[in-house]
Amino acid sequence: MPPSTLVLLDIDATLLDTQDAGVVAYERASARHFGVAFDFENVPVHGRLDHENYADAVIRHGLEVDHRAEQPAFRAAYGAALAEIATELGGFRACPDIEPFLAAMVADPSIELGLLTGNWEETGRLKIRHAGLDDSIFRVNAFADHGEHRDELVPVAVAAFAALHGDFPARTVVVGDTPRDVQCALAGDAIALAVATGIHSVEVLQNAGAHRVVGTLAPTHDLLEFIRHG
Ligand SMILES: [Mg+2]
Repeated sequence: MPPSTLVLLDIDATLLDTQDAGVVAYERASARHFGVAFDFENVPVHGRLDHENYADAVIRHGLEVDHRAEQPAFRAAYGAALAEIATELGGFRACPDIEPFLAAMVADPSIELGLLTGNWEETGRLKIRHAGLDDSIFRVNAFADHGEHRDELVPVAVAAFAALHGDFPARTVVVGDTPRDVQCALAGDAIALAVATGIHSVEVLQNAGAHRVVGTLAPTHDLLEFIRHG
């Protein structure tokens, strides 16, 4: 029997906490590549795709370059900076209760796991590995590379599930910490499970329209039942 439920997890503040290493890595990489450190003060980067944040920053700083042409070199500089910062910090922190939550789902043959994230693939995986988590358990994924906006990503992951298993999932659950995670779940006809381990409160996530909001992903019987059956 193929799995019936696809669970798609966000990375930042859902799986792990980089202590803003992503923003610091953007600053370092842009200083090295463009000679200007990107400033993200009062810029809402959470829940957006890496290429949206990057392209907006190039434009906001008035750099007279083609951001698309520069993206591969910038990405390489960003990846190098992120790896340096991970080393400086002694690794990133896995979110509370995430390891038993992931283990409970890996052990359930009715569940397939994937990532649905605004990260570029290589740096998203780098963050996961530097948090001491196993990125190989996520087999059906949608990264920043797969869309222009987060709302386009659920169908990408669902199509990847269908390519792997020959059928669509009966149920898709998106797990994330921002209203944008909730929004992309609703846009993709998926169930939104929001977790208040990031900067957004339970109330904000409820108001965004999440089907269920939890404080942490402690793998209670109740939470796993919700994931399997609603
Ligand atoms: Mg997040």
